[in-house]
Amino acid sequence: MDRLIFHVDVNSAFLSWEAARRVRLGEPDLRLIPSCVGGNPERRTSIVTAKSIPAKAYGINTGEPISMALRKCPNLVVVESDFRLYQECSKAFKDICRKYAPVVEEFSIDECFLDMTGTGKVYPDPIKTAHDIKNEIRDTLGFTVNVGIGANKLLAKMASDFEKPDKVHTLLNQEEVESKMWPLPISDLFGVGKASTKRLLDAGIKTIGQLAKTDISFLKMLVGDKAGEHMYALANGIDESPVTSEEREAKSYSVVTTVEENITSYEVANHILLGLADSVCTRMRKEGAKAYCVSVKIRSDDFKNQSHQLNFMEATDVTEEIYETAKKLFADLWDGKTPLRLMGIALSNISKDEEQQLSLFVDEEKEKQKKVDAAMDSIRSKYGMGKIMRGSVMKSSMKVGRKFNV
Ligand SMILES: [Mg+2]
Repeated sequence: MDRLIFHVDVNSAFLSWEAARRVRLGEPDLRLIPSCVGGNPERRTSIVTAKSIPAKAYGINTGEPISMALRKCPNLVVVESDFRLYQECSKAFKDICRKYAPVVEEFSIDECFLDMTGTGKVYPDPIKTAHDIKNEIRDTLGFTVNVGIGANKLLAKMASDFEKPDKVHTLLNQEEVESKMWPLPISDLFGVGKASTKRLLDAGIKTIGQLAKTDISFLKMLVGDKAGEHMYALANGIDESPVTSEEREAKSYSVVTTVEENITSYEVANHILLGLADSVCTRMRKEGAKAYCVSVKIRSDDFKNQSHQLNFMEATDVTEEIYETAKKLFADLWDGKTPLRLMGIALSNISKDEEQQLSLFVDEEKEKQKKVDAAMDSIRSKYGMGKIMRGSVMKSSMKVGRKFNV
């Protein structure tokens, strides 16, 4: 039977969610004025994490410092990120999706896959159903989504990325793959990393269509056997991976450390975070588990607790990735002044489903980091945890002169 998959993706999620909240309170719509989301706007270190279309017109880019964005557009409205709001909005739109689809896979905080295969009796017109879902989310929650309809997850995801916002697109058959997907640059193809993109471009392969028609043995030579086969399949619109709404284990892995001297600088805090990430990831990998969610907890010297969490697109067990995310969460949590007594990292939404991870995305940088992790794990399993440390953890414990109890 032919498969029928929807991919629902919130348009500029963080900004839209904040805008919808403000509109409900009778405030101006952030989507219609130059605005951006960016950590704590009081701090110089904050960066733009989402922006409105009018802000984009001023040349403001995601990832650039707020101070630079303000120079480009002095009237820019900068709002703080609010992870609790994001989690609420995420749950609300996914609950609407669950009313329509028998199987829903949460793919990231603002995306999910719906397996609509075999629902023809209830929903004879998939395009109409997609519009119904999209409109119900817009009309009841106040923000817009794109819905991509495809014959598999890859095609549904590619389709939802076409023209935005508030649109439904299809990639249902070979004809549509050739007319809508093949003209796109290879950098638009999911699952093709930066390093491979460069190698393909150097070899003169610029569009997804050219990639789809490249000789597969040449591709394997260019980027390696596994990546070559993977890319060839994706460019031809082939993806067998299932939509899985697996019950994630309630289990979580966590580690906290209290310090004798208060933490007062980002430098020290980040070194501690790396030590924590290293420790908790090693433990998780030992059990063959991966996490969809990372949270960071801090306690100030007046015993106030705070925490932030973020969901990953894909479950991960890579120390570097978890550390980088923890660093960002921490930068959002901490004012940079209040002395801290305790820091912790928790990994939750645990998955042990290996196959699913391999299906859609192969990230070369991540593959490298996995090898580093595997090497460290094997040395530690032979000689114990204390025998080998990541370079920067070692440096920090010497500099700070204290042992972390992790
Ligand atoms: Mg989105």
